[in-house]
Amino acid sequence: MKRIADNINHIKRRIKEIAHTYQRDPDEITLLAVTKNKTDKHIQEAILAGQYWFGENYVQEGCKKILHFRSSCHKMPLVWHFIGALQSNKTRVVAENFDWVHSVNSVKIAERLNQQRPKNNERLNALIQINISNEDTKSGITPRELDALATTINALPNIRLRGIMAIPAPNVTEKHRKQEYANLFALYSQLRQQYPHVDTFSLGMSEDMEAAIAAGSTLVRIGTAIFGARNQ
Ligand SMILES: *Cc1c(COP(=O)(O)O)cnc(C)c1O
Repeated sequence: MKRIADNINHIKRRIKEIAHTYQRDPDEITLLAVTKNKTDKHIQEAILAGQYWFGENYVQEGCKKILHFRSSCHKMPLVWHFIGALQSNKTRVVAENFDWVHSVNSVKIAERLNQQRPKNNERLNALIQINISNEDTKSGITPRELDALATTINALPNIRLRGIMAIPAPNVTEKHRKQEYANLFALYSQLRQQYPHVDTFSLGMSEDMEAAIAAGSTLVRIGTAIFGARNQ
């Protein structure tokens, strides 16, 4: 289990090195530890290593962990991100328990999250998921739809629009990926110009962390490189 702490420290060092290589401020890049299929013990180990931001993909699994750590680690400033595909019948659990959602991809989802966010909670931080590769996957909007969805979310009182998120298409060439990341960064920059409080570009996983930071990512979502493979 000590390996988890070592891995976290290693990745934090790598983030700094990569930031310097690409002339970026390392403080602009945050590490999100992705804990889907991992146990409370794994998470506990990461917390002991100073990792407080966690990403979960499944509503029930994530919620159970949040409740567990809210009682056992209530003094730690833990921040929980929902990063999985979100169906509209699951929005309530997310609105009531998570701090961030990365996968907002429709007006309907956004409006439900807004309505279901408890009034005494802070606003729910939201990222709009972009489907860059225009594949038939259902998650993510096309770049053309961004303007309208951002306008809607920005008007919702219980949600705070923070930026965009993307998952790269598998099996693309290096050149193609670079182009996609550049397109995403352009969208993010445009959004920031319209909404000055937008500050988050969620891009990069264990395999593409360097390419994502080179492209301007501010939040890298790392699972395997911290906790090992997810073989159940
Ligand atoms: C699982 C997952 C990750 C982490 O991927 P690794 O390759 O294990 O680092 C990041 N983002 C999303 C949306 C995921 O589902």
